Amino acid sequence: MTPAENEVADLCVELIKVDSSNYGDDSGPGERAAAEVVLARLAEVGIEATYLESAPGRGNVITRVEGADPSLPALLVHGHLDVVPANAADWSVDPFAGEVRDGYIWGRGAVDMKDMDAMMLAVLRQLTRDGRRPRRDLVFAWLADEEAGGNFGAKYLTKHHPGLFEGVTEAISEVGGYSLEVDPSLRLYLIETAQKGLAWMKLIADGTAGHGSMLNADNAVTEVAKAVARIGAHDWPLTYTPTVRRFLSEIADAYGLPFDEDDPKALLDRLGPLVRFVGATLRHTANPTQLDAGYKSNVIPGQATAVVDGRFLPGFEDEFFATVDELIGPKVRREFVHHDIALETTFDGALVESMIEALKAEDPSARAIPYCMSGGTDNKTFFADLNVRGFGFVPLRLPAELDFASMFHGVDERVPVEALQFGVRVLDRLLLNY
Ligand SMILES: [Zn+2]
Repeated sequence: MTPAENEVADLCVELIKVDSSNYGDDSGPGERAAAEVVLARLAEVGIEATYLESAPGRGNVITRVEGADPSLPALLVHGHLDVVPANAADWSVDPFAGEVRDGYIWGRGAVDMKDMDAMMLAVLRQLTRDGRRPRRDLVFAWLADEEAGGNFGAKYLTKHHPGLFEGVTEAISEVGGYSLEVDPSLRLYLIETAQKGLAWMKLIADGTAGHGSMLNADNAVTEVAKAVARIGAHDWPLTYTPTVRRFLSEIADAYGLPFDEDDPKALLDRLGPLVRFVGATLRHTANPTQLDAGYKSNVIPGQATAVVDGRFLPGFEDEFFATVDELIGPKVRREFVHHDIALETTFDGALVESMIEALKAEDPSARAIPYCMSGGTDNKTFFADLNVRGFGFVPLRLPAELDFASMFHGVDERVPVEALQFGVRVLDRLLLNY
C-alpha cells in the first residue's frame, strides 16, 4: 500500500473531528479550524499554501502545483470544508468523533465531502514527497461555505482572487465518480456532467383590499392560491437532455433492458436508492414551498405572495419559464428570490478519457457513464463564470449494499475506508498523467 493509501483514512478522520457545520447564517464555527488541518498537513511535506478568509473564521486554502508542460491548461481540484449540521441524537455514533467501525469511517462529512478533501491531501502529499511532477498545473482548493451558497468560499475567491485560477479550464469536484454495481463483472461509475438550474420564484398577486364581509371580485389571496394550485398540479412532461438520454441508454445496455422513452420507470427502478440523484432530471420541477398573505380573519389583504422552488433542465430554460408564466396567469407576477443557471457539458475530451482510463486501471469492471444531477455544486455556481468546465468526480468504489445517496446530508453518514484508498489510487493516476 502506498503512503497515500495508508494515510487517507486518518486524514479524513482528522477532518471529520473538526466541526465545520454551516448553518447558513454565519452562526456556525466556520472553516478556519478545518483549513488549519489542511495547512498543517501541507506544511508537513513542505507545501506552502495560500490561506484566505472571506470573513472572520471563513477559511479557504488554495495551492498550485506546477506542471511539467506550461503550454497545457490547468486543472482545478476542489472540495468544500464545511458540512451541513448534524443532530447527534439521531445518530448511532457521535457525528464529529470520526469513528472507524466495520471498515467504515463514520461522521458528518464522510461523503460530503471530507472524503475528497482527504483524498486530495493524501495525493498531493505523496506527489510532493516523491518529487513527481504532473504534466499540467494542478490547482487544489479547499473551500468554505458550499453548503450555504458559497458566498464565503468559491464566490469570494472567484470574485476577489480570480488570478488564483489563471489558466484553469476544467475542474473536478463533488457528487460523481461513485460506483453502481450491476453485477460483479460490471460496475458503472457515474460521472456528473450536467446540473439542473434553479429558480426560486416569488409569486405576487395584487388585489383590492377590503372588509371580509363585503363582495370582492379582486381578491389577492384567491389569485395567488389559484396560481400555486396550477403550478403544484402541473404534470411536467418527460424531457430528455443529451446527458440524461445517454445515461438511460447506458443503464438500459448494462441491465439488458429496452429504453422506452415514454416510460423509463423500469430503468429508473434498476438504480435503486441512487434514483434520488437522478429521478428529478427527466423533467422540470416546480414545487410551491411558501405562502404568505393577510393578518386578520375579516380583512382581505391587498397583496398575497407565494414562493415556488423551480428546477429547470439545461437547454430548456425558455420553455420552462414560458410554462410557468402560462400557469401563473396574467393576474400574478413573479420575481426571482434566487436564480442560478443550468449546466451541461459533453462526455468527451482528454479529461474524460483520462478519468475513464484511471478508473479502468484500478477496477477492470469499471464503465464510466455521464449523468445529470438535480441539485447544484460550486462547479455551477461560480467556476462556470470563469468558463471552467466542471465534472463531478470523487472516485469511490462502493459495496453494492451501501445506500450511497442517503449518505448525503443523512444520518449515520459513512464511507468505506477501502473506497477512499481506491479513490486515492484513481486520483493519483489521473492527476499525474492527465
Ligand atoms: Zn457537498
